[in-house]
Amino acid sequence: MFSSVDEFVRSYKEKLEHMHGKQLAECNSREQYETLGTMVREYCSRDWLATMEKYRYEKQKQVYYLSIEFLLGKLLKSNLIHLGIRELCEEGLKRLGISLTGLEEVECDAGLGNGGLGRLAACFLDSLASQDLPGHGCGIRYKHGLFDQRIVDGYQVELPEQWLKYGNVWEVRRDDQIVQVTFGGEVETYYSKDRLEFRLNGAETISAVPYDLPIIGYRTNTINSLRLWSAEPSSHSPNRSLMKYKIETEAVSEFLYPDDTHIDGKILRLKQQYFLVSASIQRILASYKEQNSSLLELPDQVAIHINDTHPVLAIPEMMRILIDEEKLDWDTAWDITTKTISYTNHTTLSEALEKWQIDLFKPLLPRIYLIVEEINERYCAKLWEKYPGDWQRIEQMAIIAHGVVKMAHLAIVGSHSVNGVAEMHTDILKKREMRLFYEYEPNKFNNKTNGITHRRWLLQCNPELTSLINYSIGDAWIKDPTKLVELLNWKEDRVFLNDFADVKRKRKTILANYIHYKNGISIDHSSIFDIQVKRMHAYKRQLLNVLHIMYLYNRLKEDSRFEIHPRTFIFGAKASPGYYYAKKIIKLIHSVAEIVNNDPYVKNFIKVIFIENFRVSLGEIIYPAADVSEQISTASKEASGTGNMKFMMNGAITLGTLDGANIEILNEVGEENLFIFGLTAEEVLSYYQNGGYKSSDYYHHDTRIKKVLDQLIGDYFPLPSVEFEPIYDSLMSYNDEYFLLRDFSSYVDAHERLNNAYLDKTKWSKMSVHNVAKSGYFTSDRTIRQYAEDIWNIEQHTLHHS
Ligand SMILES: *Cc1c(COP(=O)(O)O)cnc(C)c1O
Repeated sequence: MFSSVDEFVRSYKEKLEHMHGKQLAECNSREQYETLGTMVREYCSRDWLATMEKYRYEKQKQVYYLSIEFLLGKLLKSNLIHLGIRELCEEGLKRLGISLTGLEEVECDAGLGNGGLGRLAACFLDSLASQDLPGHGCGIRYKHGLFDQRIVDGYQVELPEQWLKYGNVWEVRRDDQIVQVTFGGEVETYYSKDRLEFRLNGAETISAVPYDLPIIGYRTNTINSLRLWSAEPSSHSPNRSLMKYKIETEAVSEFLYPDDTHIDGKILRLKQQYFLVSASIQRILASYKEQNSSLLELPDQVAIHINDTHPVLAIPEMMRILIDEEKLDWDTAWDITTKTISYTNHTTLSEALEKWQIDLFKPLLPRIYLIVEEINERYCAKLWEKYPGDWQRIEQMAIIAHGVVKMAHLAIVGSHSVNGVAEMHTDILKKREMRLFYEYEPNKFNNKTNGITHRRWLLQCNPELTSLINYSIGDAWIKDPTKLVELLNWKEDRVFLNDFADVKRKRKTILANYIHYKNGISIDHSSIFDIQVKRMHAYKRQLLNVLHIMYLYNRLKEDSRFEIHPRTFIFGAKASPGYYYAKKIIKLIHSVAEIVNNDPYVKNFIKVIFIENFRVSLGEIIYPAADVSEQISTASKEASGTGNMKFMMNGAITLGTLDGANIEILNEVGEENLFIFGLTAEEVLSYYQNGGYKSSDYYHHDTRIKKVLDQLIGDYFPLPSVEFEPIYDSLMSYNDEYFLLRDFSSYVDAHERLNNAYLDKTKWSKMSVHNVAKSGYFTSDRTIRQYAEDIWNIEQHTLHHS
């Protein structure tokens, strides 16, 4: 199929006619895309099968990465690159008058995630396959991924996302591997041969149908799987309205919950979590049993990782199967379970820590609840031995307390490894959020600083920079991105620096063209592209960025001698549909843009752009175009961040707080190659503990702040004056929980330093090169190797054929 261009052209035409029953000339680009996608999937099926067979027969230890989100983005381009057949396809299609990039654009993003957590899962799958590691994803095949965002009149409007509307060429439905997942009912206990047994009566089952996607390694023969479960009515239909049952069943995999920083306690979310976990664990154990006789060796053959607490019911679900179905005793089952499962914590934001009301949990999952209760009782008894009489400590560490089940506690107790996602985040877990657990079992805790796949986030999305790097230092960095450090040898080379600046110019032009096409606004290609793209959230402080823009505007208007290098402030962010405050910030960005972009004088210095519907495929054109990467979260709040790494790898300079992985970026590049400002995490946390912050002091003592805040509530904007009152109130009446006013002055200074640095173009280019050169540490290949060695104990394999 892909052995030569001629061969490709012939098979492509044949395939297209087979699939669509028409000639090439009558097919639209979607049909052309589907043809190519199907050919690629079929082409890789042999290696896919071979990989799975090899794992089976060589009894390689496997890791299963359970995640409620996988934010894959588009797959065609990356699959073609990984298989090494993209140029051939491009040439073949060209002969047929078809543009490959045109077809690549037809594909919908697989947007089965909110942001960083889901994208991390996708990067991890890529790094597992590309390093010949036996690891697979387990997730949910949401019919609708994260909503599509439209902006109407400056307000966000959400539309249902439709990625499956025309089918999905990458998936294979596996009807032979359907499993049943059970909800509700009542637990009956009885004795059989002196053993206490449990039986569920009156429960309802739904079918979990797996769809498998190939995860193709970069230029290896390894093809792992991502298994996405879809909920369908079961043939054992219940004793009630079938229509209602069908609707309720399909609802389980209908929508992705559009928020990753708040728990809303809705029963459907818990249903989704158990659905994912129960289906996955049942299949993992069944396939283990096909090859192995004793469950005691399970931890030598299988590792199960839970990405945040969403899949934490994997722990009691595994206990249920081992005890109720496999008839093991509690202690043996517990030993197997805890040795198999490991857990990553992603946040310390208290509103994101999952807690489920017992009244909600128990009726939905009665047997699982009993098991959690037993885990809790045994754990508390052990704590009592270690801390006799210290009931206060035990109450704080309990899994069930005050009418709720604490999912993070269950995750810590039921797994052998707990990791944070950046050094500082892990420190905060150990010293604060999870201190008591750390004191009890210090060896369980470890750090795994996040990473990104440099294949999508440099090689694929920035071919111009990739070519220049290959030309300068060769292409060995693709296998080992730490080799990017060799770019430092070119830092003083005039020709190289010119070429490097040229690459950035090209990428800025591509983004500027997109903005012109979408927003109808022309931007100055030589302005500084200052970009903040990420989910909209108070702690990420897009508002601080806006307040600074308002200040700059005021300053430019007041002081005709004040000049800055032209700047384009670019935003992209979705707000969760129920997050009223976040939506207000989106409106504010648009209102400020309206004023700034239409001011005949100021528009020569600054412009403000909001890019609608930020998602993975847009990120691929945004990150490479940035001069400045805004990473300005309140210190201590952003566990790691990964957007910061994507920007850095593409040569943007970080303007950020000492938060998450920004600190490790600083350690890599040194303070002369980025701009740091604001409170430290220590300072923020001590304010929370000891008080002492009064935001109104900053309002009264800093005229720049006062002026901007007053503009929020007066008649400055052509809107009812109450429009931005909630924003004003968050800063003044509610004492500015995220310290925007406290950090304002330091942020202004950092911007001034940045502006001055940009005036020396050569120096700026050197800083930029330095960032690319030191970005190798942030490849997810490094992260995954650390998980593989320290947590999962899995090994690379090699496939010898084709
Ligand atoms: C990388 C990425 C994120 C995470 O960005 P942060 O800046 O780390 O919050 C969110 N959304 C998309 C689409 C991404 O690609």
